Formats: sequence, structure tokens, C-alpha cells
Amino acid sequence: MAARPVSSESVGEADATPLLAAVDVSRRFTARRGWFGEQETLTAVDGVSLALRRGESLGLVGESGCGKSTLGRLVCGLLAPSDGGVLLEGRPLPLAGAGSWAAGRIQMVFQDPFSSLNPRLSVRASVAEPLAARKTPRAERRRLADEMLDAVGLEGMGGRYPHEFSGGQRQRIAVARALITRPDVIVCDEPVSALDASVQAQTLNLLRDVQERFSPAYLFISHDLAVVGFICPRILVMYLGQLVEEAPRERLFAGAAHPYSQALLAAMPADMLGERGAKPLPRALEGELPSPLKPPPGCRFHPRCPKAVEVCRRAAPAWKELAPGWRARCHLL
Ligand code: SF4
Repeated sequence: MAARPVSSESVGEADATPLLAAVDVSRRFTARRGWFGEQETLTAVDGVSLALRRGESLGLVGESGCGKSTLGRLVCGLLAPSDGGVLLEGRPLPLAGAGSWAAGRIQMVFQDPFSSLNPRLSVRASVAEPLAARKTPRAERRRLADEMLDAVGLEGMGGRYPHEFSGGQRQRIAVARALITRPDVIVCDEPVSALDASVQAQTLNLLRDVQERFSPAYLFISHDLAVVGFICPRILVMYLGQLVEEAPRERLFAGAAHPYSQALLAAMPADMLGERGAKPLPRALEGELPSPLKPPPGCRFHPRCPKAVEVCRRAAPAWKELAPGWRARCHLL
């Protein structure tokens, strides 16, 4: 693989190697229908490219089942791509593992902090766990874990166990654990969707605060455009395994180009959209996400698109650049 991603879908700064890049990445899964049924192939991620710069927050938004969590696992090295590649500072990213040169440089925060914490370990031990792979001495691991728990507002609580904490506090513990190796990148996969609204805001503020202090870049994944917009100045919109729009947050909120992004905007509270909220928005999205086992031909969004025309049913739209840093895939642009 070339040291720099070169692709018709490559995005981000042309004059610098991005911190993390996915280059035409696809991931397929095979499953058998029933005990003796035919083997089927599901393409969860289909030819996606993205570039993440050092210290930035990049949002990835789309409905549940669109492939965004699979993409998150691909760029963490938790899954191997079927096609394409993931590069960290221009080097092919190996699968995650203690012996990897990239160990600890990309961390993940999951939706459910309870299932990602070992109930039998004190939170100090859980937070310190990623340091074991680096052979950090035990006393130093303990000290660093307490320091990181302080940083997320859980001073003096390292000796307690996960069940003694609320959902929001457990997510703070998960953030401390992700930060302990001082990673270059944290992939946050729906980090607030299991939390109450007030705790969501606190957790989002915490993520912003620790980013200022420790400077990790975020790939921030959510089905909720309002949440993504709170954290991320640049947003990618994903539909059925493919990216369909990439835009700066202000551009997207002022008037997205792709009908799917427009439908996501229509589902947002009007006060989050500023002036745009005063104008008529298209209808919110109707219908179910089609199965990735049998994606529709042509534009994958055409069965649900209120603007679909004949060509949409037979030809996949190409990317169209609308302004620097703003592009979308739709025949009508
Ligand atoms: Fe809708 Fe056609 Fe554009 Fe797809 S290409 S989003 S179906 S108008």
C-alpha cells in the first residue's frame, strides 16, 4: 500500500498526510440463512474513505445499521478490512494487539460502559489495564490511573467497583480508560445514546474538556445529528454502508445538499438549527433502512428519497464537490 492515500474518494488536506485515514475501505460478512440455507454476503461498509487530522473532531452520522460502528472498528484495528486499507500517519494499521506498534494509539469508547468494564476489577485496575501491554510498572499504572480518574471528575474513587457508579460516571471511567495511553485518536461509538439528556450534556462537555487538555482526535459516531454537531466541526453522513455527504457543520446545518442529510436535519429540534430552523424543512425520513444484504441498485437511497428521478434507480451517483470541504453524492446536484 502506498504511504499516502490516493483515491478518487480521498478527503481531507491534500498537502499533508492525515493522522488517520481510511482508503476505499470495505468490510463484508458472510452468514448462512438457517442451518442449511445459502451463504449470503453482507457488505457493511462499502468503499469508504475518510481522513482525520491531528486533534480534530470528525463526526460520522447515520441511522442504526448503516455500518458506522463497523467503520469505527475498522479504523481502530479491531476488524480487518475486506478491501482497502487503514493508515495511521501513513503506515498500514495492523490489527489491534499488545505487540502492535500502534498499540494504545487508537482507543475506543463504546455506547455501554457497563459491558466494557470488568465488574470484578476496581475502576482503578480497569482504567490502568491498557498500560499493562506497555509493561508500565504496577505502581506507576496505579498513579496514572488515579490521575486520569481525577481528570474526569472521579477523584478518590479508584478503589470502587463499576456497579457503584451511575451510567454517566461509568462513561467517565470509560473515557479515563481510553485516555490512559494518551492516544492519538479516540473513536467514540454512540458514547451518550444510553444516557439521560442531562447526563448526555455533561458527558459531551467532558469529552470537549479532555480533548482540550490531552489533544486526542475524535472520530465521533452517532445516529443523532444534534449530538454530532455539538462536538464536531466536520461531519460525514453515512447511508447503507456508503458516505453520501461530507461538510463543515455550519454548511450542513445551513442547508445540507443530500436529501438523506436533509431528512436527518428535519428530525432535529428547530432551535439547534439557528436561522435554518425558521425556514421550511423537508419531511423527516420515512420507511426502514433497506437490508445491506440486498442494497437497492442505483442510488441506495432511491426507495426512500422524495426527490428520486428515473436515473436514480439505475445509476449510482458520483461525488460532486460543492465547495472546498463540502461534497455530496446525488444526481440532482
Ligand atoms: Fe435522491 Fe436520486 Fe439524489 Fe439519490 S441520487 S439522493 S435518489 S435524488
